[in-house]
Amino acid sequence: MSGSKKKIIRSLWILMICAMVSFSAAFAFVRSYTSTGAPTSWFTQCIPIWLYNQESLTITQVAVEDDLQRALAEWEGVSCTDLSFAYQGVTTLDLIGFDPSEGALNQNTVSFVQERSNWLTDPLAVALTTVTSCQNETEVCAEGATIDADIEINEAYYVFTASEAEPQERRMDLLSILTHEFGHLIGLDHPPLPEATMYMSSVEGEIKKRDLAPDDEQGVCELFPLGDRRQCLLDSYNIQTGLPVVEEQVVSSDEGGCAHAQPRGIAILFYLLLSSSFIRALRNKYVQSERDYLS
Ligand SMILES: [Zn+2]
Repeated sequence: MSGSKKKIIRSLWILMICAMVSFSAAFAFVRSYTSTGAPTSWFTQCIPIWLYNQESLTITQVAVEDDLQRALAEWEGVSCTDLSFAYQGVTTLDLIGFDPSEGALNQNTVSFVQERSNWLTDPLAVALTTVTSCQNETEVCAEGATIDADIEINEAYYVFTASEAEPQERRMDLLSILTHEFGHLIGLDHPPLPEATMYMSSVEGEIKKRDLAPDDEQGVCELFPLGDRRQCLLDSYNIQTGLPVVEEQVVSSDEGGCAHAQPRGIAILFYLLLSSSFIRALRNKYVQSERDYLS
């Protein structure tokens, strides 16, 4: 083979590899899946979030709420998504996962776990997001439709600082961790891109996960595309009747993201939830640190 032909073939290979790398980089975000292989996705475009009423060991309540809302705003602020969160303030509901029993309250919560005896997964996991989705296809609940998600922050083994802390004081950055966990809450898993907010590991003092990478942005836009607005379901539900405990609650609406809850569809949904055991909680440990800072 002549030198020029070799050169052309080599150039083609380089082009192909570049194309493959750029293709994989452009579409590297990873969705979460149920055990039956269905991608998880919310059945609403507007997700209410509560903060569990237990103060952080090291961060003031005001700073925690500030970081929580900044993390939500980071995902909502992506220009190609209609995702909208509705922060509902502090709750006393202490429930991880979804309780389908009669009269049960279910809220999407963020909480701190401070006792090591209560942290039941890998101590190296900085946080844990528990997502509950419908496991079987039904008339009103698509397979993989998420109905609840809760985030636990591991203060039993880690020390956190708020985004307002001085850099030299920074331990695990709460804002970065929350931004990552909200990515899991909406249905994203870990991509193989270290620069992404959804990358699987974090280290002390790291703050780059506060800002979404293009890969994360593509993920949220795939899950919650523009023009796909659905109702905003707030508060909990009376499982027996399927009606929201608090009806007609309106979220302060910016750009029309949230609207009244619509009880009828929910009644059918929760009737079916009660009638079969197809709820499955995805409980994964996320954001593993590269070392245990407290041991
Ligand atoms: Zn993670």
